[in-house]
Amino acid sequence: MGKPIYSCEEHIEEALDDWVYGVETVPEFTLVDKSENLWITCGYCENRAIYMVGNECSGTKCRN
Ligand SMILES: [Zn+2]
Repeated sequence: MGKPIYSCEEHIEEALDDWVYGVETVPEFTLVDKSENLWITCGYCENRAIYMVGNECSGTKCRN
């Protein structure tokens, strides 16, 4: 699997396009948890990412 792509609001469409191009699966995107005290930079600019595109193993999803 590819690595998740982080994106700000402006660049989410590019992130989705890149995901589809690279991985050829339907992208899933989730909001980055704002409650976490964590700055993740957009992959396309210097803004704070608010979306994560991809299938990162987190929470309960990938524990099987
Ligand atoms: Zn951006």
